[in-house]
Amino acid sequence: MEVFKPKRVLFEQKSIDYPLGEKLYEKFRRNPDVIVKIIGSHNRVMGIPGKNPQEGFREAKQTLVVGVRKGGEFQTCKPSAHYQLPLSTSCPGMCEYCYLHTTLGKKPYLRIYVNIHEILAKAREYINERLPEITVFEGAATSDPLALEHLTGNLEESIKFFASQSHGRFRFVTKYTNVDSLLNITHGGNTRFRFSINTPFVITKYEHNTPALDDRLEAARKVAAAGYPLGFIIGPVIVYEGWEVDYKTLFLNLQSGLARVAKEPLTFEIITHRYTARAKKNIMDIFPKNNLPMDDSQRQLKYGQFGYTKYLYSKEEMKNINQIFEGLVEKYLPNSKIEYFV
Ligand code: SF4
Repeated sequence: MEVFKPKRVLFEQKSIDYPLGEKLYEKFRRNPDVIVKIIGSHNRVMGIPGKNPQEGFREAKQTLVVGVRKGGEFQTCKPSAHYQLPLSTSCPGMCEYCYLHTTLGKKPYLRIYVNIHEILAKAREYINERLPEITVFEGAATSDPLALEHLTGNLEESIKFFASQSHGRFRFVTKYTNVDSLLNITHGGNTRFRFSINTPFVITKYEHNTPALDDRLEAARKVAAAGYPLGFIIGPVIVYEGWEVDYKTLFLNLQSGLARVAKEPLTFEIITHRYTARAKKNIMDIFPKNNLPMDDSQRQLKYGQFGYTKYLYSKEEMKNINQIFEGLVEKYLPNSKIEYFV
């Protein structure tokens, strides 16, 4: 699949003072197919067209905002890490169930930060504060950073930075496959590369504009061969007719393709399908014909980290899904570890 090419790029004024901002400005300014504008703040983005929510969403997903991340604290990031590492926001994918429907609303334009060295300096402060504990940072809490790596190089910078941190660890997750620029850099085993995977049924039906499963697994093999610690997020686990057989096939695929290449135990994070009322409303506007399972009466409620109430599968279903995944991991990849199930 081709790498992301924006239709319009909005530069926060100050971003051009940084080498990466200047480089991108020169690159896009010369491209007659791209609309380039200077804006005052990366938080006040106006003028993304769209006559209806579907069109507005598509236009936003082709809009790139280049900004400077101001100081301020990093958000915490349970359960996968201690802190978020803010590298970018949103991604070119159009997954119907995307968790960003809650936080980014109907126009989830893409945003990248050009001041990576300042961001990493802040990460170093957090690492020092928690010594002698190890501090873990998540690079994909609000985006898929690999989908934007060809523009920013921010993952490469972060991976190299964490390679030199005895008490800092980095992890991120992606559905994308442009891993080549990251294979021959020094990572020191301090970055865990995770791929978000699912059954071909879920990918085809809900994950528009993202690479196919086989391509993700091929990228995962390359990453494992480059010696990175490797993991998988399986999510959202969706219960549909035939789901158990499909997830079993997924594990058979992992067993045959990855068990021998991975140099250390694989990790799994299993995330069952959930939604918030806000996400549901946005999803119904953007994908009016979707058939995601969102019948509130079939769900249990849970209060989330940022004050949003989540609709989860019922307790019995969660228990059943959990048991099935524990069984799959034990049977097909017994040396690997489930980090969490939610
Ligand atoms: S790839 Fe991830 S961040 Fe991008 S739309 Fe899909 S779920 Fe959302």
